[in-house]
Amino acid sequence: MNDNTYSGATEAELSFLKEIVRMLPAGLTVQDAHGELLLVNDAAAAQLGMDGSRHSPDLAPRQEACRQALSAGQAVVTEEALHVGAARQVLLTTHRPVRLAGRELLISASSDITEQKNFEDQLFRSAYFDELTGLPSRRVIEHRANNLLATGHGGERFALAFLDVDNFKHINDYYGHPVGDALLVELSKRLGRDLRDSDMLSRISGDEFLLLLSPIQSQEEVAEFMQSTLERLTAPFFIDNSEVFASTSVGISLYPDHGSSFETLRQNADIAMYRIKNNGKGLATFFDTSMEREAQARMKVEQSLRLAILEKRFCCAFQSKVDIRTQAVKGIEALVRLRDDEGVIQAPGSFINLAGELGLIDELTHLVLAEIVKSIDLINDTFGADTTISINVAAKQAGNPEFMRSFARALDDTGFPQRFMMEVTEDAFVAKNHFQAEILPMFRKLGVGISIDDFGTGYSSLSALADITADEIKIDRSFITDIHKRPRSQGILRAIESLSEALGMTVVAEGLESYEELAYLQAATKIRYAQGYYFSRPIFLEELKLATPVSSEARVSVASRPMQQNRQGYSRASGYRR
Ligand code: C2E
Ligand code: MG
Ligand code: MG
Repeated sequence: MNDNTYSGATEAELSFLKEIVRMLPAGLTVQDAHGELLLVNDAAAAQLGMDGSRHSPDLAPRQEACRQALSAGQAVVTEEALHVGAARQVLLTTHRPVRLAGRELLISASSDITEQKNFEDQLFRSAYFDELTGLPSRRVIEHRANNLLATGHGGERFALAFLDVDNFKHINDYYGHPVGDALLVELSKRLGRDLRDSDMLSRISGDEFLLLLSPIQSQEEVAEFMQSTLERLTAPFFIDNSEVFASTSVGISLYPDHGSSFETLRQNADIAMYRIKNNGKGLATFFDTSMEREAQARMKVEQSLRLAILEKRFCCAFQSKVDIRTQAVKGIEALVRLRDDEGVIQAPGSFINLAGELGLIDELTHLVLAEIVKSIDLINDTFGADTTISINVAAKQAGNPEFMRSFARALDDTGFPQRFMMEVTEDAFVAKNHFQAEILPMFRKLGVGISIDDFGTGYSSLSALADITADEIKIDRSFITDIHKRPRSQGILRAIESLSEALGMTVVAEGLESYEELAYLQAATKIRYAQGYYFSRPIFLEELKLATPVSSEARVSVASRPMQQNRQGYSRASGYRR
């Protein structure tokens, strides 16, 4: 195109071009060297508020950009945020100086990037701020700490506290997630009170917070501050008509005493927090080097547990559940055992919680079931072919529909699901996680029996029993020990017994160790079944196989062997009367 063609344009062509410029979807302005607007198309008029949509359009930024671009003699790109009432409009504008017909002019083209901008902001917020509490994220506090470390003029000290809400999982399970979330919000408010502008509180995951206190003068000052913070947390929270109590465990590391990088300081604060968790919770402590050794030892246990699962170094011991009126074995319970690196057999107390924390417990349960299936002939020969077989399932597993579905499938695949009973603690039943309504029916359909394990130790009350549908209730050993000497336990036992009877649940006494306990149960209660060292300790089937050739005699001896020493006084029963 040359000047001739342009000047030769017809009137019609010119007005056609003018209309196109006017209606361009991008905002277009032309200014002269003084910033005076020579041309404003419709989109630009709307963007600048010159279309009557705003009272007084603010053209100052546009004129300033003009001055800059013209004096620089090159294109300038600017981002302008215009506020129209509460709404924000963001324009991305390219200002290009041109010489046209001997005049210095500035052509500016703007596009509206409000939507992209809002989206970017949202991304930014979610990367740097926690959505639930509005607190800065881990990246922000890490950045702040790194800044302090980098500019640490004169070795200014600071403290990093790692806070973890105690039993948060329980609270979540028991009250439901909305209450758990609300609790975290309220907690973060209480934690954030009394902070200085130079301090920072951050939520780094689920129920974990990091608190940066900077600057600090002394360890004592930090200890005092944390103490008063923790005290503030002990008052109950009122959420959704519930009174929720929460405590928090805190581990603290100091810079420069306990590390010179954010990661080390955070780790050491975490290690100190872990110490508190194991020693009563709800307190704060500072890191010290002895804790480091502890943490290393724990790592070793973790590693060996992972390895044991990988190498399937697990086996099952079986304990019989006995009819105390006839001595017949009614069922058996599979109790998992771990063969550690040195070949020593470990009871679940030493590893089951850790397996839960490390996410290894589901695999463990499947291993237990596989071992039962593998040994089913031996089980039948030893205990009888119609004994029930009980498997323990942790409350955490019980609330996980995915695992429970796979477990139900595995039970079904054995071909004899009706032989099984599933033992779950009462917490699983009262948790608001659909266990009763959705998960249990799956097992009922297969004919799997449901048992409430360790009853009396959990969070539920006796009245909660009424809402629980189970076939069996196992009364915790703590009530059975010395039952004949403890009137209070006797009263509780009577209450559980009559309630269970009304609800059609079989009662099993756990941890029966002495003849006196047995005699009491026989004489003063209607309880039919018991499990405990008195009848049999948990035994390994292989050992049994080695000791005695399998026969019907061997079957009887399992239940009665330990009793024989007690036989004497046994039939003479006792003086208890109902
Ligand atoms: P539990 O299900 O209540 O099992 C009964 C525990 O009491 C067993 O401990 C058993 O050896 C012990 N016991 C039985 N009779 C007596 C007695 O007369 N006196 C005393 N002092 N103790 C007795 P164990 O085998 O150490 O298991 C502890 C817990 O570990 C079990 O308690 C159960 O909750 C859990 N557990 C065991 N196996 C598994 C498993 O495969 N999966 C899961 N999730 N948990 C398991
Ligand atoms: Mg059990
Ligand atoms: Mg139990």
